[in-house]
Amino acid sequence: MLHLLIACLFLSNVHVMAGLIQIRQSTKVNSQVRFLAVGDWGRKGCFNQSAIARRMGEVGAKLGVDFVVSTGDNFYKDGLTGVNDPAFTESFTKIYTARSLQRPWYAILGNHDYHGNTEAQLNPLLRKRDRRWNCHRSYVVRSGIVHIFFIDTNPFVNKYFAKAKIFNWKGVLPRDRYISSLLRDLRTNLKVSNATWKIVVGHHPIRSVGKRGDTQELVQQLLPILQANKVPIYINGHDHCLEHINNTGSPIEFLTSGGGSRAWGNITHRERYRNNLRFYYDGQGFISVQLTRSQANVTFYDVFGKNLHSFKLKK
Ligand SMILES: [Zn+2]
Repeated sequence: MLHLLIACLFLSNVHVMAGLIQIRQSTKVNSQVRFLAVGDWGRKGCFNQSAIARRMGEVGAKLGVDFVVSTGDNFYKDGLTGVNDPAFTESFTKIYTARSLQRPWYAILGNHDYHGNTEAQLNPLLRKRDRRWNCHRSYVVRSGIVHIFFIDTNPFVNKYFAKAKIFNWKGVLPRDRYISSLLRDLRTNLKVSNATWKIVVGHHPIRSVGKRGDTQELVQQLLPILQANKVPIYINGHDHCLEHINNTGSPIEFLTSGGGSRAWGNITHRERYRNNLRFYYDGQGFISVQLTRSQANVTFYDVFGKNLHSFKLKK
């Protein structure tokens, strides 16, 4: 029995450390990690979701991506109704069909996912329907030279608690305790991480000139932890656009990848970061991230797969 238990532990790629689930993700090429990030997508192919999926497939094949990151708002408009909801197949399995995208998907919940049956997307039974699907509220993916810290940013947003009827907070309340233990766990995990690259992913932007703008609760509570641990990149969705902001008083590149389907909000607040906005695109798209020990390469693509903006970070 003991032998069996030890064997199971060694075979498992999942364990818990300092309060957060840790997933080990292999890479195709030693010392290099490549992934795509897309957000705000699940609309059964509509609003160019299918076109973006095809372009992701092409870019994914060209780069040989190891996995895909979803920045949340996975299923519109109200998340999933349960583990058997056909929307899972119609908005995910039947849309992202390219061979290069048949890799693990690492997702977090957006505010729309918190409507309806919030826990359905977290249920491991979904992996029986599509084995690519990995979704937890907050967790760490360890892939070679990078550790990616996925953070549930929804409970930070004050205004969502004024609409308690729309949001299903089961598993989150009491809110203060949930947030304080999440921040403590993130702090501990970032501190002990010896990865070359530490990337944090949340649904809500910390900095954004898009329609929804900055999330003040994250500026106050999450940003200081990222700064203290020298996190170089924060990736979010929520604003249905692509953007890159930096030099805001901290050495963090703020990347929005929320263009997985409906976009063109036509409302921006460019004046807010006039001197810090490296790139903004109001339409659909996604990003690729390529990491080596010495360099990060980030590229933003539109619905035609055109390279709109790219930048490098050196270690
Ligand atoms: Zn959202």
